[in-house]
Amino acid sequence: MTVDPADVAARLSDLRARLDRAGGGGIEIVAVTKGFGADAIRAAVAAGLDRVGENYVQELVAKHAEVGDLLHDRAVRVHMIGRLQTNKVRQLAGRVDCVETVDRAGLVDELSRRCPGMHVLVQVNATGEPDKGGCDPGDVGALVARASEAGLVVDGLMTVGPTTGGPEAARPGFRIVRELVDRFGLAVCSMGMSDDLEVAVQEGSTRVRVGSALFGARPPA
Ligand SMILES: *Cc1c(COP(=O)(O)O)cnc(C)c1O
Repeated sequence: MTVDPADVAARLSDLRARLDRAGGGGIEIVAVTKGFGADAIRAAVAAGLDRVGENYVQELVAKHAEVGDLLHDRAVRVHMIGRLQTNKVRQLAGRVDCVETVDRAGLVDELSRRCPGMHVLVQVNATGEPDKGGCDPGDVGALVARASEAGLVVDGLMTVGPTTGGPEAARPGFRIVRELVDRFGLAVCSMGMSDDLEVAVQEGSTRVRVGSALFGARPPA
């Protein structure tokens, strides 16, 4: 699936206008390139974005081989935003700057062993959907503490809105996660994707993760 850099630049200005209208002008944008090749990363960087997100370790490794130097030269931060198996963690070292999907103690322990000092977000499942990653809201404090004690740098929390129900259905969960960010004195609140970013900004997001609104519809996985 090829990506036209001019399309990405045009979609980025639309995205920035949407964020402005929602009151989130200066918010961080993670360009989610899952399903697309390294050309999506090149287009995002050319358009001026400085954070890219990957969901799958295998894709991450392949793209890093192609554009790792570009990412390094332009100081582009790479975010792991997909569900993470413990046995894949060692492949993140040297390739990823922030792991946004820390949701269990075993993952904290493996990250501290393989990627000491890694920046992380604790992912919260605020919708109760059983098939979603993330810890229960009530377990956030313990995970934040464990990660900090293990020498990881806990920047904040991350959440994904519900799969069905439309953007408004995401609001209650986003509100819970923002409250937790404040309760634990954290800085980053990563929530909002292409379809629900306005609601996320209204509820206090500091970082949106955007794929299809930048790159178009994803090829089927
Ligand atoms: C795919 C994905 C995104 C981006 O989704 P879009 O709807 O394409 O913007 C954001 N966050 C996570 C965790 C994802 O898996």
